[in-house]
Amino acid sequence: MDTEMLIGSRFEAGTEADEHVLNPKTGETVLDLPEASLGQIDAAVDAAEKAFLSWSQTTPGQRSAYLLKIADAIEADAEAFAALESLNCGKPINAVLNDELPAIVDCWRFFAGAVRSLTTPAAGEYLPGHTSMIRRDAIGIVGSIAPWNYPLMMMAWKLAPAIAGGNTVVFKPSEQTPLTALKLAKVLAEVLPEGVVNVVLGRGETVGNALINHPKINMVSITGDIATGKKVLAAAAKTVKRTHLELGGKAPVIVYDDADLEAVVNGIRTFGYYNAGQDCTAACRIYADAKIYDRLVADLSSAVSTIKLNQADDTENEIGPLISRRQRDRVESFVTRAREHKHIEVTAGGSVLGDKGFFFQPTVIAGATQDDEIVRREVFGPVVSVTRFDEAEQAIAWANDSDYGLASSIWTKDISRAMKTAARLQYGCTWINTHFMLCNEMPHGGVKQSGYGKDMSVYALEDYTAVRHVMIAHG
Ligand code: NAD
Repeated sequence: MDTEMLIGSRFEAGTEADEHVLNPKTGETVLDLPEASLGQIDAAVDAAEKAFLSWSQTTPGQRSAYLLKIADAIEADAEAFAALESLNCGKPINAVLNDELPAIVDCWRFFAGAVRSLTTPAAGEYLPGHTSMIRRDAIGIVGSIAPWNYPLMMMAWKLAPAIAGGNTVVFKPSEQTPLTALKLAKVLAEVLPEGVVNVVLGRGETVGNALINHPKINMVSITGDIATGKKVLAAAAKTVKRTHLELGGKAPVIVYDDADLEAVVNGIRTFGYYNAGQDCTAACRIYADAKIYDRLVADLSSAVSTIKLNQADDTENEIGPLISRRQRDRVESFVTRAREHKHIEVTAGGSVLGDKGFFFQPTVIAGATQDDEIVRREVFGPVVSVTRFDEAEQAIAWANDSDYGLASSIWTKDISRAMKTAARLQYGCTWINTHFMLCNEMPHGGVKQSGYGKDMSVYALEDYTAVRHVMIAHG
C-alpha cells in the first residue's frame, strides 16, 4: 500500500500527528498516516510554483497527452484502485469497479479532449485600428481539497480540469480517505513533470487551513460542507483568491399524480440510497401528490427493505456502511429526533445495523412536513423523507424553500408539466423521470449555499482558467 505524500518528485511521510485510516465495514484501523508539517506544505507549494513556469506554457495537445496517459494507467489498474477505495470507504466492490472507475477514467479522457477545443468570441477589430482577441490562461497554483464520499472521483473532477487548463496543484484528500489518492500519486509522479501535482495529507483544521490561507495559492477548490466553504471564503478574502465551491445538497423529488410509480419507487430505491446516501445529490426529500402518497410510501418502504447491505459476500451488497462512527451516530440522531414528532412514521429501517462497522438500515420517514429538521437539513445517510402535497404550486414552493440548490427531480408523464416545473426550480440540476445520472460532458454544481463553480464539462475548464483580453494597435 502506498503511504507517502508526493512533494515535487519526492515521496515522503508527513512528520506531524497520526490520523487513523479506518475500514468502515469493521471499524478497525487499516493504518495510521502522519499529516504534513507546515514546512512540507510550503515545499509542495514551492514545487507547484516552480512547475507552473513550464507547465503553463505547454500546448493543450501536450497536456492532453499527459491526461490520456493518466486515464490509461488508472484503467489498467482499475481492480486495484477499486479494491482500495472499497476498503477505505466500505463501498461494495462492484459499485466502485463498475460505476465509479469507468466514470473516473472517462473524466480524465473528457478533459484531454475538451482542452483542445475551447471556444471564445471571435477575434476582430472592435475598435478601428485595433485587433482584440480572447485568451483563456491558467490561473496559477490551485489548492484542491476533497471530501470522503467519492475520493478518487473527486480527485479526477478537481485535478483533470485544473491541470488541463495549465495550472499546477497541491491536492489534499480527506483525512478519512487518503488511500486511493496516495496510489494515484504514484501514477502522477511517473507520468507528469515534477511538481505539476503534489499530494499532501492531513486534517482540515491543520493542513486544509494552511492551504486555504497560503499566500502563494491563487485558487482554492473545495468539495465539502457549507461551514467549510464559508471558512474558505473568509480565508480567500485576505488575498482575493479565486474559489470553486461544491457544498452539499438536499435534493427535492417532486412526484406528480400521473408519474409511473413503479419507476419512481425503483428510482428512489437506487438514487436515494446509493453510496449509503452519502451523496450530495441523493434523492432524499420526496414531495408526493396526495393522490399517490399512500401507495408511494407503502411501495417505497417495501422496496427499501430489500436493499442488501452488510452481507459477508460483498458482491451481493448494494450499499455499504457510513464512513465513520461519527457519521453513523449523526444519521441515527436525525432519525431519533424525527421519530419524536407524532406526525412522523418510520416505515422502513430506522436503526443501526450489526455490531461492527458503521452500518445503518436504509430508512424511510413518512409524514414529514416542510418545517421538520429531516426535510430541511442534509443527513448524508440512507434516509429519505416523504412529504404529502395537495397543489403543484405548494410542491414547487417547498422544493425551493431550502438553503441548498444542487440537484432536484420531477416525476410525471406530462412533459409540459415537467418543463414548466423545471423552469421554476432553483437547482443546479433538474432531472425529469430520473435522478442522479451524471455524464462528463454536462456540468455538476449548485446555486445558493450549495456553492458555485462547476465540476465536469467545459464549464469546469472555464472555472479553472482566466479570461484575458489581448489588444494590438495596428500603428
Ligand atoms: P468537510 O467539509 O468536513 O471536509 C471536506 C474537506 O475539507 C476535507 O478534506 C477536510 O479535511 C477539509 N476541511 C475541513 N475543514 C477545513 C478547514 N477549516 N480548512 C480547509 N479544509 C478543511 O466535508 P466532508 O464531511 O468530508 O464531506 C461531506 C460534505 O461534502 C457534505 O456536506 C456533502 O454534501 C459535501 N459534498 C458535496 C459535493 C458536491 O459536489 N457539491 C460532493 C461531495 C460531497
